[in-house]
Amino acid sequence: MPVSGHLMGVYNRAPLNVERGQGARLWSTDGTEYLDCVSGISTNALGHAHPELVEALKAQADKLWHVSNIYSIPGQDELADLLCSKSFADVVFFANSGTEAVECALKTARKYHFANGQPERIDIYGFDGSFHGRTYGGINAAANPNYTEGFGPPMEGFHQLKWGDKDALTKAFESPTTAAIILEPVQGEGGCRATPDEDLRWMREMADKNGVLIIFDEVQCGMGRTGKLWAHEWAGMTPDIMAIAKALGGGFPIGACLATAEAAKGMTTGAHGSTFGGNPLAMAVGKAAFSIISSDEILNNVNEVAGYFKQQLHGLQERYPDVIAEVRGKGLLMGLKLIPNNRDFMGWARDEAQLLVAGGGDNLVRILAPLNISRDEAQEAVERLEKTCAYARTQMAG
Ligand SMILES: *Cc1c(COP(=O)(O)O)cnc(C)c1O
Repeated sequence: MPVSGHLMGVYNRAPLNVERGQGARLWSTDGTEYLDCVSGISTNALGHAHPELVEALKAQADKLWHVSNIYSIPGQDELADLLCSKSFADVVFFANSGTEAVECALKTARKYHFANGQPERIDIYGFDGSFHGRTYGGINAAANPNYTEGFGPPMEGFHQLKWGDKDALTKAFESPTTAAIILEPVQGEGGCRATPDEDLRWMREMADKNGVLIIFDEVQCGMGRTGKLWAHEWAGMTPDIMAIAKALGGGFPIGACLATAEAAKGMTTGAHGSTFGGNPLAMAVGKAAFSIISSDEILNNVNEVAGYFKQQLHGLQERYPDVIAEVRGKGLLMGLKLIPNNRDFMGWARDEAQLLVAGGGDNLVRILAPLNISRDEAQEAVERLEKTCAYARTQMAG
């Protein structure tokens, strides 16, 4: 594996050089074919090289690549209309990534209280095991020491609660300086942990009672991943502000911060902005990706295939209790908590079974199949996982 000498060494890269992709398949430069259950960490939600997305990008590329947000940008109104028609939101800010969408969400929450004449409400509460990307706001909101260490003092007003600690959360809601809580309804990087529906409903009640905002980070669990368009739909409640990204562009960089008109009332002219956010290419692909992903056809497929996977993965766990400790997740945001090291397992899956799976906190591998994966491909993924488990057993015995 040649070392790329001039790249910052921030990634722990697997030894795989990908050349091209089609649907749920990837091919490396040496011609090996892989079944891709990473999907760019749930970004290529319609698989690789989806013809409608390719066509949308090519058609827009011929017309206009970039124009400043000092003008109205083709596609922004249409995509915002689509997003608002299928969510709780009234308004949208377009960014380029998940963490930028989170950044906008955090700023929107504080500015709301400022606009309400309560500038003292600055406290933002996040939870352990969460991930909100790598800006200063993102790392402070998640407060994972792996990502904050060495980057100076913690930012004022950011606090981390223990996931599931209702007493601490009650205090946070009741504090007169609280602006918002931020959470992923289903944690991704942190280990596929879903907050129970009744807890989400309780949070909504507490937030309303105390004048606190709820920010959902659905960058990973949103966009159909759990089998509903938004993960919070399972709980029958809505947030005030929501960050989305990853699958929204089907692989093209885009992020969006959605909010109710009320929550966004502080975000007036000059309050925020972005050079590339809402770029015409991103809007064209985003419209195509969102239209397909929000269709009944895709959401039904997610639920069907996820049901199959869940059953099969539990079967695998029964056959390999020495390899798989627990099956977790919701919809196609699935995780296996492992007994062997998860990084070893990812390597074995790749090299012995040509199956790509993602890592995750708590010694998990995540299986993030494309949302349009077929039943046959899902069966193939399970067979390849079984092969990996059998191989893991030989490695662990040795
Ligand atoms: C990936 C992710 C982010 C960060 O997105 P980027 O596009 O990498 O900035 C934020 N939140 C969650 C839940 C994510 O999974």
